[in-house]
Amino acid sequence: TAVAVTAMALSLAACSSTKSGGGSEAGSADCNVGITMPTRSLERWINDGEQLQAELKEAGCTVDLQYADNKTDQQISQIQNQIAGGAKILVIAAIDGSTLGPVLEEAKAQDATVIAYDRLINGSENVDYYATFDNYEVGQLQGQFIEEQLGLADGAGPFNLEPFAGSPDDNNAKFFFAGAWDVLQPYIEGGKLVVPSGKAPANDDDWASIGIQGWASDKSQAEMDNRLSSFYGDGTKVDVVLSPNDSLAIGIEASLKSAGYAAGDGYPIITGQDADKANVKAILDGLQAMTVWKDTRALGERVFEMIQSITAGEEVEVNDTESYDNGKKVVPSYLLTPEVVTADTVQEKLIDSGFLKASDVGL
Ligand code: BGC
Repeated sequence: TAVAVTAMALSLAACSSTKSGGGSEAGSADCNVGITMPTRSLERWINDGEQLQAELKEAGCTVDLQYADNKTDQQISQIQNQIAGGAKILVIAAIDGSTLGPVLEEAKAQDATVIAYDRLINGSENVDYYATFDNYEVGQLQGQFIEEQLGLADGAGPFNLEPFAGSPDDNNAKFFFAGAWDVLQPYIEGGKLVVPSGKAPANDDDWASIGIQGWASDKSQAEMDNRLSSFYGDGTKVDVVLSPNDSLAIGIEASLKSAGYAAGDGYPIITGQDADKANVKAILDGLQAMTVWKDTRALGERVFEMIQSITAGEEVEVNDTESYDNGKKVVPSYLLTPEVVTADTVQEKLIDSGFLKASDVGL
């Protein structure tokens, strides 16, 4: 990887200086990048931001990387500062994808190119590109995993399911939910999945009613506590929890633990996403069944390549021009492929690839 990064770094430096007529100063002025990430509270965003920053710096770009504590106002002023600092490219993982329209007007006024990172930015003409993993597929992988593990397609059931959805302000959350729900809902209709809490959205569009604001673990834990005490007091057991990501799964697992659930027979199937260290440990301990792994290094590389093309004045490669309509335009997107990781594949997929260290997960 180090070699590949260096090669790309050199070619980006070459592109910038070619375009600017060979002057390295002008080259880096072209490549003035502002990166804004939602929060440091989730491992993935730390990795995402730091990796992209390192690659861009190595390529001679000026980079400003900011984290916003999951606060929209803070993120907006960080972007404003980057614009004032002369940013020509903005890479934004939005907190609330619907609130950035005005600040993107400012970005356009100085001709900055805007790349929506991982999460789409809605309601603005001024989003040039979107790079992400196929968010619908993330949910689909979770739904299909549940379907296979329970043998639903073979007619097994009924099983007790508790579904959760992501943060209502995150554009990805509805795609995650829709992907899973399109697989699972037919089994609810057929009586093979039962939702004792009744928190089963009637259709994909109602997902936000079970969304957990800010993707917060303490909120998913409290919600699961409520469901367990209100609907499972008579000894009914949870068989499966649809959790859209790892931070929610951690809260759900803590709640189940305090209600007396322990790894082994009868422990529910719980899904996740991100391959956070704590969750990978939980997978190895039998407390979480799977995580949908999005190799954030590949996303960083993709955005790096986009920036390389932009600074070289070349066409930016995309592979999807229809899925992501932000209300003002269909944003040209590059979608990467997510993968399921289970206890059996932690070593091969996460450790051997260098995404995590064995010692990170107690191996
Ligand atoms: C990302 C997920 C992440 C979640 C919470 C989503 O937009 O795609 O990877 O788990 O935000 O930060």
